[in-house]
Amino acid sequence: MPTLIQNGTVVSADGQRQSDVLFEGETISQVGPNIPSAGHTVIDASGLLVMPGGIDVHTHLDMPFGGTVSADDYRTGTIAAAVGGTTTVIDFALQSRGHTMAKALETWLGKSDGKACIDYGLHMAVTDLGPGDGAQGLAEMEVMVRRGISSFKLFMAYPNVLMIDDGLMFKVMQKAGALNALCCVHAENGSAIDIVVAQMVAAGKTAPHYHAHSRSTKAEAEATHRAIAIADMAEAVVYIVHLSNEDSLRELKHAQQRGLRALAETCPQYLVLSLEDHMPGKSWDEAKYVFTPPLRKKHNQASLWHALEDGTLSVVSTDHCPFRFADQKSLGKDDFTKIPNGGPGIENRLQILWHFGVNSGRLTPERFVELCCTAPARIFGMPQKGVIAPGKDADILLWDPNRAYTISAETHCMATDYSMFEGWTVSGNTRHVFSRGELVVKDGKWIGQTGRGRFLKREANAGGLA
Ligand SMILES: [Zn+2]
Repeated sequence: MPTLIQNGTVVSADGQRQSDVLFEGETISQVGPNIPSAGHTVIDASGLLVMPGGIDVHTHLDMPFGGTVSADDYRTGTIAAAVGGTTTVIDFALQSRGHTMAKALETWLGKSDGKACIDYGLHMAVTDLGPGDGAQGLAEMEVMVRRGISSFKLFMAYPNVLMIDDGLMFKVMQKAGALNALCCVHAENGSAIDIVVAQMVAAGKTAPHYHAHSRSTKAEAEATHRAIAIADMAEAVVYIVHLSNEDSLRELKHAQQRGLRALAETCPQYLVLSLEDHMPGKSWDEAKYVFTPPLRKKHNQASLWHALEDGTLSVVSTDHCPFRFADQKSLGKDDFTKIPNGGPGIENRLQILWHFGVNSGRLTPERFVELCCTAPARIFGMPQKGVIAPGKDADILLWDPNRAYTISAETHCMATDYSMFEGWTVSGNTRHVFSRGELVVKDGKWIGQTGRGRFLKREANAGGLA
């Protein structure tokens, strides 16, 4: 039986209106006022906002890092996402040096198959183009795009593990440009950072907050500039992931003003957490906030919020990369370089952005939908997602803008034993969530089947800028 959502306010990136939404099977069939209810299952959305399901384009589920594996697998990670109002994620398949991209894809599809609870896509992190001139790797990129992997991730940080040099980056970007694929870049000058890290360790500075101090905003800004410049030379569209500070923002803005095709995202942790408040250098507890790029000084937050408002930043993702405090973060108890990098956030993205963005008046509800749902679908080649309109997937979030919720590791669905926002009470939370027409979250609780999520073949559309 078709489902009719009545009496709600539909929020899209370009406006809000009182409207009913009808969907049949997996697809939205009608959006408009006063749709007759006869023959339909009716959901009363009085007092609720009806929005497209959230899209989180930056997650690391079941990912090996520093001798351990991120705590959420595809089951717990995607359930947490859904409970937080997100109906699509894009995760990263990591190519290992000396191995093919095909092998990485197979590995990640193996991790997700039978476990993913919402729809998901994959980026391919390229670390190696194979022997000689790299023809083998470049040919593989074509295969990846045909298989729906329309974005490639490049690391300018983590030498000897993931970092590639400028030449390899240029080569990958040239190919990506020719394929209309998007280049996602982790922009930090890894070579310089590793020298600072070694100097700190030699000086006995091994507490968690030295992780943050070893990775300056200048190191991020330099790499941001270089990534954009090389993408421009290679005629590719570049998307800077997890941009964290004012210095990097200045590089991005300058490039955009010159008409370069450069996009970027930031993440909730950089908007609401700071070095002063969460990493003053007092306790081991601060390992909870060891991620990369690190927390920044507070003054950066206002600039990031402003950039979300004025469109310099296009997307808010999480960089969800969860590790338990008790037995995973503890690997670096005596040495910050051994603390697994990452924080848990997949479940809280919409809550944090709504509470600190919309409730505070910094963002309109329309801009919230653009940043969390519509822009991610457009930039990452998912035309069936991110918009409430006939013919689109019925990924629908019923959001209660007034529902107070206290964030805590005691009650969250993520597999970590801590929350980055422990004890914070936010106003605005998920009520119900439909994923391709199926009610998967009811009154804030997951009720869907494990493994129902599908792999999404994404289009190569040059970040929606072609
Ligand atoms: Zn990441």
